[in-house]
Amino acid sequence: MQTLSNEDKNYLLNSIREVEDFPKPGIKFKDITTLLGNKKAFHLLMDHLVARYKDQEIDYIAGIESRGFIFGAALAALLKTRFVPIRKPGKLPYTTISEKYSLEYGVDEVTIHIDAFSMPNNSKPKVLLIDDLIATGGTATAAVNLINKAGAECVEACFVINLSFLQGDLDIKKVTSVYSVLEVD
Ligand code: AMP
Repeated sequence: MQTLSNEDKNYLLNSIREVEDFPKPGIKFKDITTLLGNKKAFHLLMDHLVARYKDQEIDYIAGIESRGFIFGAALAALLKTRFVPIRKPGKLPYTTISEKYSLEYGVDEVTIHIDAFSMPNNSKPKVLLIDDLIATGGTATAAVNLINKAGAECVEACFVINLSFLQGDLDIKKVTSVYSVLEVD
């Protein structure tokens, strides 16, 4: 199932609940818990991601807190590869490195353990980045830069949904290849 049919894409889109005005007025929040709770939708999505990445020799999957942990860890297990969490500041217990990025008002930061990536033969690990959604693209762009700073190579950033009207994917494309299962205009 390398390519999803339009019927499958519509099924997946319809399995995601939209919650208006969450977490603040004006935001239409894409709630993926309804996708996870739908057996057909969850496995359609995971089977598709396995088919896309199974022959790409991914050394690590890095998931962005927190919904990227769900899809990323599930995919890492299915691909029999490793998983690394990318977290908000103050959450990881050991020495971290971090990358700041701008928000509409202020700055935010993503962090990773300094020794998150290591390969037996000292080769540069190939990392697939995963999160649930691209909005402005700021979080994912910072996460790609962080992976590269930690000595690995981010070969692709993968998302369930791209809010394409915000064009956040264009920023991420400046630093890595981007794949999104679903596009929302
Ligand atoms: P951004 O850095 O603007 O691309 O924001 C991406 C992060 O914010 C992802 O981790 C998403 O889970 C979350 N996010 C942003 N907007 C939404 C939305 N409309 N629905 C669900 N999650 C969102």
